[in-house]
Amino acid sequence: MTDDIAVAVATVADPGASMDALRASMRAWLQANEGALQPYRHEHPGGMTESCAHFRPLQRLLHDAGWTRLGWPVECGGLGGSAVLRAEAMEELAAAGYVIPELQGTIEIIAPMLIRYAPALAAHHVGRSIACDENWCQGFSEPDAGSDLGSLRTRAVACEGPEGDGFRITGQKMWSSYATVAQHCCMLVRTGEAGSGYRGLTMLWVDLDSPGITIRPTDCESGREEVAELFFDDVFVPRDRLIGPEGAGWEVVMFLMQYERGAYAWKRQAELHTQLHELVHDAPAEALAGGPSAAANLSALGNAYLALFALRSQASPTLAALDAGRALGPGISVDKLLLSAAEQTVTDTARQLLWPALEMDDTPAAARWRRRWSFSRITTIYGGAAEVQRDLVAERLLGLPRGR
Ligand SMILES: Cc1cc2nc3c(=O)[nH]c(=O)nc-3n(C[C@H](O)[C@H](O)[C@H](O)COP(=O)(O)OP(=O)(O)OC[C@H]3O[C@@H](n4cnc5c(N)ncnc54)[C@H](O)[C@@H]3O)c2cc1C
Repeated sequence: MTDDIAVAVATVADPGASMDALRASMRAWLQANEGALQPYRHEHPGGMTESCAHFRPLQRLLHDAGWTRLGWPVECGGLGGSAVLRAEAMEELAAAGYVIPELQGTIEIIAPMLIRYAPALAAHHVGRSIACDENWCQGFSEPDAGSDLGSLRTRAVACEGPEGDGFRITGQKMWSSYATVAQHCCMLVRTGEAGSGYRGLTMLWVDLDSPGITIRPTDCESGREEVAELFFDDVFVPRDRLIGPEGAGWEVVMFLMQYERGAYAWKRQAELHTQLHELVHDAPAEALAGGPSAAANLSALGNAYLALFALRSQASPTLAALDAGRALGPGISVDKLLLSAAEQTVTDTARQLLWPALEMDDTPAAARWRRRWSFSRITTIYGGAAEVQRDLVAERLLGLPRGR
């Protein structure tokens, strides 16, 4: 662990606690640490690097107290117990008005895959990531392969040489979230013949400081380097960095997607509930009572709350199912659709209640809501586009005939 953060707290999280006891002890801890937690009331307005640096002490505080170690195996730096305990603790953090560190979302998505398909890598990396000593990203999408990952072209050719047994990667990834602050990337590559579709894919764990890798941040409307392109020029990756067997990449990425569409949805619903409360506070008094739009605004708030309620109702059994090791199948697309609906309903409501401040003002609150509104537009794209999720629900869940 690094020693540059002046935080020393005892582990208080109990992996054997009941949900009620866990929530009570988290609330007590939040109260006891109110002073240290004050800087984390809102998202950081700066770039990705500054934002991650800002939230790092919070990640360490949560780690050292044990809250983010709950539910991860002891051999991976966790405390054991149920992952639902960790989810409940994060919901308490958000309910108390604090931000859940955004890199926590990446851990929730990638760590289960490492634990299931690459236990030796998990034993080395999961503990370091929850202690905030390293960050990860995902490299699946390519310029001509997003919704259809089966057509991806980044090649990994098996090789043996002085550096050992492994693969040489050549190609390009794009839209990789957090790549500018990550040290490792889980990458889907083609090890089969060109045209081998889903069958010829393999998942690898790649050190981003390997020779031959170029990371180019993508200009985003938000101004933060949220995503990046990754270029691979004959990059060597040792064979012991395989995540799952060679050729099993599709199974591995589908396993990960359950967490990207499910566990991540739980984190966001917790944050969005807090933001909705914040909106009631930020809205001018006449927007909610007495003003000409008050009735319409209250109705919009009600709809936003309903969208969040629906999301939470879906995400809660999903968490339990993932924790029990049950495969979720196409039903997980419902979580993703409810997530994008809730995210956009909450921020559209903010736009309505804060009009015209959200567009025009320079106050920190207006700027914050502007950023949130912008971010909400991409929720129908990342983690699988909404149109594709709707097709999956229609065809594979409801058994409707194919549209095309
Ligand atoms: C902010 C952000 C973060 C991201 N982070 C990551 C990341 O960390 N790692 C990563 O690998 N990728 C990431 N992505 C990429 C994301 O997963 C893809 O953008 C997404 O899967 C869509 O792929 P695409 O952009 O190639 O669009 P396309 O697949 O080309 O789709 C274009 C349009 O066609 C529609 N369409 C495509 N196929 C079908 C179909 N079969 N039926 C109906 N409609 C269809 C889509 O819905 C969409 O509207 C991120 C994207 C964004 C915006």
